Order: sequence, then C-alpha cells, then structure tokens
Amino acid sequence: MRQSLRLGRVAGIPIGINWSVFVILLLIADIVAGNVLPRADHGRSAGLYWAVAVPTAALFLASLLAHEAAHAVVARRRGVGVRSITLWMLGGVAQLDGEPPNARADFAIAAAGPLTSLAAGAVLALSAEAAASVGTPAVIVAALAWTGATNALLAVFNLLPGAPLDGGRILRALVWMRSGDRARADRAATGSGQVVGAALSGAGLAQLIVLGQTGGLWLAFIGWFLMWAAGMEAKSRVIREAAAGVPVSDLMIREPDCAPAWRPIGEFIAAVAMRSRQSVFPVIGLDGEPRGVVTLDRLSRIPAARTGGRVDSVALALPAEYTAAAEDPASSLIDRRPLAGALLAVVVTNGRVAGMVTAEDLGRLVQQSMLRERAAPRPPTESGRA
Ligand SMILES: [Zn+2]
Repeated sequence: MRQSLRLGRVAGIPIGINWSVFVILLLIADIVAGNVLPRADHGRSAGLYWAVAVPTAALFLASLLAHEAAHAVVARRRGVGVRSITLWMLGGVAQLDGEPPNARADFAIAAAGPLTSLAAGAVLALSAEAAASVGTPAVIVAALAWTGATNALLAVFNLLPGAPLDGGRILRALVWMRSGDRARADRAATGSGQVVGAALSGAGLAQLIVLGQTGGLWLAFIGWFLMWAAGMEAKSRVIREAAAGVPVSDLMIREPDCAPAWRPIGEFIAAVAMRSRQSVFPVIGLDGEPRGVVTLDRLSRIPAARTGGRVDSVALALPAEYTAAAEDPASSLIDRRPLAGALLAVVVTNGRVAGMVTAEDLGRLVQQSMLRERAAPRPPTESGRA
C-alpha cells in the first residue's frame, strides 16, 4: 500500500494515509450526516449535521489507526520489525518486516487488533451513555454511539476466519500451534479466506438481487476483494516455498546480451536488439560494470532521427537494490516490483554483469517447483519455515 500522505511517526513507525482514505472519510461523513444524526435528532440544519459528522469520521479513522498500532506494538514486542502503518479505503495495513517467529507470537499479533477495536467500541459506548446522562446534545451522543457500534462491527468483521483478515491469522496461529506445520497453517488460512470471501460476495449479491438493496454491492465488493487478497497470499506463499534454498545463479540468464553504454543506439538495435531473445538489456560501462537498463519498448519509442545518440542517453537508471550476487537467495527477489515491467535483478560478479533475472524466470521457477511437487510430494516440513 503506497503512503500518499505522511501523518508522522508513532514510536518510530511511519504513519501514512493512502489517497483512497478520503473516499471513505467522505462516505462515512455522508452516512453520518445524512442518516445517523437526522435519525437521532430530527429537523436540525444540514450544517450542524455535517459539523458533527466530519469529526465523527475522523474519530473513526483514529480508531482504525489504534487497531493497526496495536498490531504494530505487539509485533515489535515479539521481535518482528514494523515498516509502516497505512490507512486506506478498506481499513489499515501494518506492514511487518518479516514473519512471526512462532505460533504464539503470530496469535498475539493478530489478536491485538480486534481486541483494540472491541475495547474502543466499549469505551465509546460508555462515553455515549455518560454524555447522555449529563444532557449532552443528542447529535453528539448519537455520533459517539455510532462510532462505538462501528468499532464493534469492525472487530467482528476482522475476526472472520480467513486470511488476510485478523481472524485468518488467528486461525493460522491455531493450526500452526496444533500441527507445528507453518506451511499447512498458511494453506488453511488462505483457503478459508477464499471461502469467506466467496460467502460474503454471495451474500452481497443476494442482498442486491433478491432484496434490491444497493448496500449489497459494497459487501460483494469486499468479498471479492478478500478472495483476491487470499489468492495473492496463497500465490506469494507458493513462490516463497519454490524459492527457498535456491540461489540466484540457478534461475538467472547467464551472460545476457548487454548494451555497451557508448555504442550508438541504431547500431545496438541492428546488431543486438533485433536478434536477441531478451526484451531487457543491462547497459554496461567499459569494464563490464552495470550502468543502467534499456528495454525493447524504450528503444522502439526513439525517433529515427535520434538513433545516432549513445545507448546510455536513453538508459533507465539501475537502482542499487536491483543488483544481486549469484549466491544471493532467490527469495530476496520475491517482493520486488519488476523494473521496467520485467527486470528483477542484474547479477554482478567481480564488478561485471554476469547474469540477469526477469519476472518470467522467477515465474518459471515456481511452475517447475509445482511440477516437481506433483511428481514427488515433499514430506511436510517440521518448522514449515519454507
Ligand atoms: Zn487487524
């Protein structure tokens, strides 16, 4: 999740929001101003409703943040680093740096979020009671009560037993605890995430079609999103298992066609790019050191009049994290967004380009490992830290 706007740091953790949060902020304020408050205190001005609804929506976002912060704080305490917390349209994401070390830690990190939402719900409900008893205006009491109830709902929703929801993580921790097999626990959580997502989608569509309520569309969308996210998680697990113990040298293209930085573009196109089976080329300096990247796509956009220029004048920069050593683990390439849509790493040995790895190469590794698995299923690993 990209942080579009930084809010600052809490305990050293960068807190940010994605632009899509404004959509939900507006949506919540609209529901509160147009529906919740008028029902509690009929006949007030729209201005008053909105003046209460906007802080109410902000309060709700703050409670979402508390939920994510709880995950983050417990993760830290259990030795798992936290990269950032980001709020977006469907809630919050606490990005952890690594995996929980054991099932107990997994359970504690997952449970902390919903417990915080439940606690926030209780505190807000009690404050609504207290506010009502001292004669606070009905719109404010209603706003507090609504935020409390929504937090309780959030906790219950997050406890649905399917990844990537917190309930799915709790399920994973429990299976992991009982079986000692992390991989199996992962499979149970993502499988159940797809079932939960399908069930929500089905319920949403039924609500839309049978009852004619457009709210069903939202539920169907959330269900579809859950199915998608659970599928992505299952896929990333398969990739991780395939890449475990494999060095980068096993999947790299050895001695790839390179583009010398000083060579005229037109000459490189005619001599190499038009014949090569690659669509991306490391750009190299005089000593064979990596200097950048150029792609067929980029070359094809260069006007004929400019093909007399040097290759490095059209090369993309090669950030340091896109270089790797042949002995690096292949798993280090997994979370990378491919550079120029294709390149995962330029492999450098003794300062020279010795190979490169594309997204396609990683995909092939995964498919081959699945074929191997089918031919001879592996015994379950004890720790499951594949
Ligand atoms: Zn959570």
